[in-house]
Amino acid sequence: MRLAVVGAGSIGLAIAWRAAERGAEVTVHDPEPGSGASRVAAGMLAAVTEAEFGEEALLPFMAESVDAWPAFAADLERASGIAIGYRDIPTLMVGLDDGDRAEIERQAALYRSGGRAFERLGGRASRKAEPLLSHRVRGGVLVPGDHAVDPRALHTALLAAAERSGARILAERIDDPGSIDADRVVLAAGCGSAAFGLPIRPVRGAVLRLSAAPGQPRPRTTVRGRVQGHPVYLVTRRNGEIVVGATSDERGLDPTTGTAGAAHDLLRRSIDLVPEITEYHLTEIAIGFRPATPDNLPLLGRLDERTIAATGHYRHGIALAPATAERVLALAADDEAAAEKAFDPLRFKERS
Ligand SMILES: Cc1cc2nc3c(=O)[nH]c(=O)nc-3n(C[C@H](O)[C@H](O)[C@H](O)COP(=O)(O)OP(=O)(O)OC[C@H]3O[C@@H](n4cnc5c(N)ncnc54)[C@H](O)[C@@H]3O)c2cc1C
Repeated sequence: MRLAVVGAGSIGLAIAWRAAERGAEVTVHDPEPGSGASRVAAGMLAAVTEAEFGEEALLPFMAESVDAWPAFAADLERASGIAIGYRDIPTLMVGLDDGDRAEIERQAALYRSGGRAFERLGGRASRKAEPLLSHRVRGGVLVPGDHAVDPRALHTALLAAAERSGARILAERIDDPGSIDADRVVLAAGCGSAAFGLPIRPVRGAVLRLSAAPGQPRPRTTVRGRVQGHPVYLVTRRNGEIVVGATSDERGLDPTTGTAGAAHDLLRRSIDLVPEITEYHLTEIAIGFRPATPDNLPLLGRLDERTIAATGHYRHGIALAPATAERVLALAADDEAAAEKAFDPLRFKERS
């Protein structure tokens, strides 16, 4: 099987690596691997707290992928020789005021429908789980089964593993997928997939990177919160880096405006939850573009005999990389059971 993958983000490379490892002849086409959302992402692998009303069809797929992560991470570290900062780390979802707490209570009904373990906590119990939480926090939800990864290390490792398994990474932009000489072509170009006629729109997001000095206290959970109606999260890496995210707006593909306001909002909200943030060193503000679809579900399936779409992963492309790779490999091998109706890339065409 000669498999061509368009796009070398986390999705394209996970597919390329897994396919090459299983003996396919793989080429990956990307003028600038890693220039998309994959190296900006925070790296939460959260099957419960990422759930949103209206996106229920995603819950089983998220659960499948998040559960595949431990083995995926171990295989990848072995195949690449690179540590990817994978951690089993619980998520604490908290609300600052009564309105925020009520919103979390509302979300908890959805979390329950996912059938995964979580525990409701009052203010004191929340601070016991996460001692750096502000005393103003009124309570929340603790999710023990979540994980996190460092998406930059992940991307570097996926590139190395794909190449070590025999995939060829070609620095070229594809304008016409039909021109590629291969048995199967996978479109995994993130926001760039819109150029192939796929219904993808960029949802811009900013994240801050901060670092804690050695010995300085750091969160021991992934802290997610709502602060006066706005979401914020803090993801802590083993190396002392803390990622604070994320804003969300739809101003097209512009990385240059609004960063001061984004930094202000993220800092204010995260300090409200974890006052220790003020003592950290601010190292970076990064902007990325989440590839979103009209119903926020991915485009994952066959476009024609030869072409498979694997894009539109919106807020979840790191978490969904392992399960997406498995589905695409099955589809490339003509296993039609891997085609999920809710993710059919032609679903919007059929409606119109
Ligand atoms: C601020 C932020 C925080 C996030 N946090 C999380 C998180 O905590 N957990 C999570 O699971 N997800 C998170 N995400 C979402 C995640 O980053 C994306 O869903 C994921 O990275 C999408 O991966 P991708 O490989 O599809 O696309 P990308 O990483 O965007 O890669 C697309 C690649 O395609 C290439 N390309 C584009 N056009 C062409 C073309 N014509 N020819 C060839 N190549 C082309 C680009 O150069 C690029 O390298 C976050 C996103 C943002 C922006």
